[in-house]
Amino acid sequence: MKTIAVLGAGYAGMRAAKKLAHANLDARIILVNRNPYHYEATQLHQVAAGTKEPADVTFDIRKAVSPRIEVLIDTVTGIDQDKRQVGLGKHEPLRYDYLINALGFESETFGIKGAEENGWPLVDIDTALAARRRLENTLANYRNSHDPNDLHVVVCGAGFTSIEYLGELVYRMPKLVAKYDLPADQVKIICVEASPKILPMFSQNLVDWAVNYLKKKGVEFHTSTAITEVRPGAVVSNDQEFRANTIIWTTGVRGSHIIADSGYNQKRNRVVVEDDLSLTDHPEEFLIGDVSAVPDPESGRLFPTTAQISIAQADTAAANVIARVQGRQTQRFRFKSIGTVCSLGPQAGVAEIDMMGKWKLKGAVVGIVKKIVNDRSVLELANVKTMLESN
Ligand SMILES: Cc1cc2nc3c(=O)[nH]c(=O)nc-3n(C[C@H](O)[C@H](O)[C@H](O)COP(=O)(O)OP(=O)(O)OC[C@H]3O[C@@H](n4cnc5c(N)ncnc54)[C@H](O)[C@@H]3O)c2cc1C
Repeated sequence: MKTIAVLGAGYAGMRAAKKLAHANLDARIILVNRNPYHYEATQLHQVAAGTKEPADVTFDIRKAVSPRIEVLIDTVTGIDQDKRQVGLGKHEPLRYDYLINALGFESETFGIKGAEENGWPLVDIDTALAARRRLENTLANYRNSHDPNDLHVVVCGAGFTSIEYLGELVYRMPKLVAKYDLPADQVKIICVEASPKILPMFSQNLVDWAVNYLKKKGVEFHTSTAITEVRPGAVVSNDQEFRANTIIWTTGVRGSHIIADSGYNQKRNRVVVEDDLSLTDHPEEFLIGDVSAVPDPESGRLFPTTAQISIAQADTAAANVIARVQGRQTQRFRFKSIGTVCSLGPQAGVAEIDMMGKWKLKGAVVGIVKKIVNDRSVLELANVKTMLESN
């Protein structure tokens, strides 16, 4: 009997396992993940800001997948592509005939001095909770320290994750100010971004709306400001210094370090794949989600790393593994975006939806759209019961 291993139970891995289970193959299907739970990475900014609890954005993998899937809770330590073997932290190495590699993303520091030591990234439940504790402990400390930097937060980067985090933060801050009896007029929230553009994936009028919304809530933006160093208590850009005792590091992502460690031909731990998502030299292996680099035939550029694209890639990779097992031709990956939604806290946001026409939305309605997107995502990975339990 053939063994199909799926590494990582994020958007890509969960969806691939679900699709493989439906195929009724005469094969052993094993899903390997570090934790017994799946987390909705698209909601980590809410856990970090304290507007959602980990239980709201996680679900038990074993309860969510078909009994046909063997779930192995362990950490992947390496992949030996020639031996077709996955190294694991606690178990014996896992031999496979087909591999779906979906190990996901890590924080990217771009080699900036001090970023890893002094910035708080949002990459999983543990880091989101650590960022939240840092924020709350630092604010609470102000009552003893009277250090103005305890009331300052710097968010590094102005892409999707940074802006969604800022939206949650400005929503939560009045509650934190009341909770710790803080001087509201001395709280400072600063966003520092190297590029001249904020939220580059949105139309300018929606970007302007989002920026004005956040500015009105007190966020100070510094674009075209490349960060050169992060020190304890300060983000530095050449001769400028932004002082804060909470520094959130959301400048971008790279793929899992397991990719480079295992000797793949990669750039920022992302591997360029064939148009059917397999590897040229290893047709038995498919890379999907944030570890893959997939050229978009229309634009010529790589597809961005998003949950939406990860799920679409999982459908193609699962269909192609099934095709290989059954001796059929594989199919090309095709993707049509249904739009992008950026929340600014639970009651605002901007969205561009491409369904039955093009829709540009802003304001409170986006909160509702985001809820629909989140529910749909759980449904695509798990089942109705899991979706209802996570509400
Ligand atoms: C705050 C935030 C907001 C976002 N908002 C959106 C959005 O609105 N829309 C959108 O489309 N995208 C959004 N994204 C991007 C999206 O979350 C990612 O593109 C998506 O999570 C990638 O899915 P994935 O399955 O490849 O990887 P991941 O979600 O990173 O999943 C990887 C899985 O592998 C496991 N794993 C990792 N390493 C190991 C190991 N060594 N051993 C065992 N298991 C391991 C992890 O624990 C995890 O379960 C957002 C990201 C962030 C951080």
